Amino acid sequence: MSEVHHGSCLCGAVRFRAPGPLGPVTACHCSLCRKHSGHFDASCEVKKAELIIEGAAALRWYAATAKARRGFCATCGASLFFDPPHLDWIGVSMGAFDGPTGTALAQHIFCADKGDYYAITDGVPQNAQ
Ligand SMILES: [Zn+2]
Repeated sequence: MSEVHHGSCLCGAVRFRAPGPLGPVTACHCSLCRKHSGHFDASCEVKKAELIIEGAAALRWYAATAKARRGFCATCGASLFFDPPHLDWIGVSMGAFDGPTGTALAQHIFCADKGDYYAITDGVPQNAQ
């Protein structure tokens, strides 16, 4: 059986699974991701055709811009998905995965918009945008 990664929101109402191996992780420090996540967003891209979501009745979508909608649990508020409608992948929040992910942070983006209360010192490449 091939590798499958499971995850869920905090309360468990929304569950998902994605085939492995998972892709590289991007940390986004833009103001939208900061507000939605509460700090900054770390997610990996999963092909929409391969992402299985269960408990969709509890899933809510918020489109802050036309470029993407963000999925979260209506019960517990967990930030789960970043969905650009015009692309074939969906960003899945790393914190929602259960168990080892087998992947790693590969880049920081929108560092020009990051908060002033933390420093990025992990040596991973940083992009202003
Ligand atoms: Zn929940």
